Amino acid sequence: MSLRHYARILANRCPRASGSRAFATSFRRAGSESQHHRANASTKSSQWSGRAVWAIAAGAGAVGCGATATILSKDDAKDRIESTVNLDLASEHRYGSTEEMEQAIQEIIQQLGDEDFISTDPEDLYAHGYSSWSTVNPDNLPVAVAYPRSTKDVSTIARICHKYRVPIIPYSGGSSLEGNFSAPYGGVSIDFAYMDQIIQFNKEDMDIVVQPSLGWQDLNEKLSKMESGLFFPIDPGPSAKIGGMIGTNCSGTNAVKYGTMKDWVINLTIVLADGRVIKTRRRPRKSSAGYNLNSLFVGSEGTLGIVTEATLKLAVIPAEYSVAVVPFPTIRDAASAAAGVMQAGIPVAAMEIMDEVQMRVVNLGGATAPRVWEERPTLFFKFAGTKNSVQDNIDQVLAITKTNNGGVFEFAKDAQEQKLLWSARKESLWSMLALRKGDEDVWSTDVAVPFSRLADIIEISKKEMDDLGLFASILGHIGDGNFHESIMYDRSNKEEREKVEQCVKNMVKRALAMDGTCTGEHAVGWGKKESLLWEVGPETIGVMQAIKQSLDPLWIMNPGKIIDVPWLEEKELKREDVVAPVRAPPSLNKVKGTQEWTLGLQGGTALQSTKPQ
Ligand SMILES: Cc1cc2nc3c(=O)[nH]c(=O)nc-3n(C[C@H](O)[C@H](O)[C@H](O)COP(=O)(O)OP(=O)(O)OC[C@H]3O[C@@H](n4cnc5c(N)ncnc54)[C@H](O)[C@@H]3O)c2cc1C
Repeated sequence: MSLRHYARILANRCPRASGSRAFATSFRRAGSESQHHRANASTKSSQWSGRAVWAIAAGAGAVGCGATATILSKDDAKDRIESTVNLDLASEHRYGSTEEMEQAIQEIIQQLGDEDFISTDPEDLYAHGYSSWSTVNPDNLPVAVAYPRSTKDVSTIARICHKYRVPIIPYSGGSSLEGNFSAPYGGVSIDFAYMDQIIQFNKEDMDIVVQPSLGWQDLNEKLSKMESGLFFPIDPGPSAKIGGMIGTNCSGTNAVKYGTMKDWVINLTIVLADGRVIKTRRRPRKSSAGYNLNSLFVGSEGTLGIVTEATLKLAVIPAEYSVAVVPFPTIRDAASAAAGVMQAGIPVAAMEIMDEVQMRVVNLGGATAPRVWEERPTLFFKFAGTKNSVQDNIDQVLAITKTNNGGVFEFAKDAQEQKLLWSARKESLWSMLALRKGDEDVWSTDVAVPFSRLADIIEISKKEMDDLGLFASILGHIGDGNFHESIMYDRSNKEEREKVEQCVKNMVKRALAMDGTCTGEHAVGWGKKESLLWEVGPETIGVMQAIKQSLDPLWIMNPGKIIDVPWLEEKELKREDVVAPVRAPPSLNKVKGTQEWTLGLQGGTALQSTKPQ
């Protein structure tokens, strides 16, 4: 693989690659760990992991393929017929052998007509199968990475992989956190690096048709350069791209005002497991025509189909913005203030929480230097609207924070400082990663609860981590009841890792007992399958399995994510494992003033929570 080609992939993977202390650190470590992982990969797919590079150099001219066709040509139609599901194969419960995978890759090269479409470079396999910011990494790597240029290419790749029963793992920005794009059963990772274009901009309709590898930040930059007055409000990890954002049904700091990814998708072009291409619906803002397939594919993490085009809604850039931070003496005060803001119906554009540890981490990381923050639990607010509405919202929020012991409200002076203030929040995970030493890793995970319970869950989870002597921070999208724990641990220390795992499990169970969810935005991936069972139970997982089976009978689409591969996993899904919500009487549903009570959990587990007095 040429350096140019590889540099492009890295640049696509993480815009912070150059000049980012955090990323530089993680990548250096990734390199040092790669031996181990390559060794692992080589035991399972020996022929592949040591191979020389197949695909050399894609020239700059080949970059950016422009528009792709959604209407199928006659040739595509023929492909469709050929790719009809073979039920005999479906009953054969296995993935392709190494020889079959090799055959599949040769056939992809042959049909796409260029070696540049496929890479087996070990570094490339590693970058597409391992993530140093993910909570989990299975012991395997993809056997090849494909770089399609169009929907038709993706369809060809899927059809060939289907023929040889080769797993397919879509890859966009690679910023997901639960092993979502890992390759536990080998297979072909499909990286859309060359499918990063705007295909059609419908300014009057306030929508845009894009390819999966367009980053949300790049999209907003392009909309700004076009002076469109519009923007795309969903803001997950800085390096995330539309395909992966759809995959995880992500959200971010703006979700309290603008909702999550699912709310911004108008239609999708999807390549199915056997190579068929479908479009979920047309372009009006609303439609009652048939099943809501958008909702099926958004959040399906590439397990049901591959997104090759998306039509997205756009929002109008508010006339006025203001950003402010306010510190609190305790995390409960901060959470109470946030709940008060929500309960008063004040339409804040964003409301984020960071505890004193995370504020220290930001200071230590220097991401916002020379600015130094008070190291106390802090709420970050973004206000947006007209001049008058922004001022009105600020006045109301000020009053609520004061009654909850809030400190001085610090406003950004100008747009530059607004950016700096907000960057402290957006940079938080990188700041934590930058502090790692030796064998340290960061476990970053999320849960969400009804927001009146947020103070309770944060307080207990934080206490548990402190009691165990773990260096951990709390931050979150508090307006949505969604918070994250970032826990530093030594991965070479088995005991410490087990402690962290237990803490995370406890946090998930507490969230579920509060009628919450095991993940508000990071999705299930490889890491939270057990949590999903605790949350929804075996019957609901059975429905998910049935949907998967009907769309992907060979189980080749991102296998092992969300739900287990049925013939490889013997674990029995038991009803007793479900964590039943403990419903507090409505009169107890207030945030301030609590005492300990026990959340009785189905299955015999009992967890401590706080009970409002
Ligand atoms: C610093 C940092 C901050 C973060 N903050 C947030 C946050 O505030 N909110 C939030 O929600 N998340 C956050 N995340 C997590 C991450 O950014 C999101 O999960 C994001 O949606 C992943 O997008 P991606 O392009 O990186 O996807 P990837 O990691 O490439 O893929 C994610 C999943 O989608 C699938 N997929 C990828 N492309 C396609 C496709 N074309 N078709 C079908 N499936 C596909 C993959 O197989 C995988 O299962 C953060 C991550 C980091 C590192």
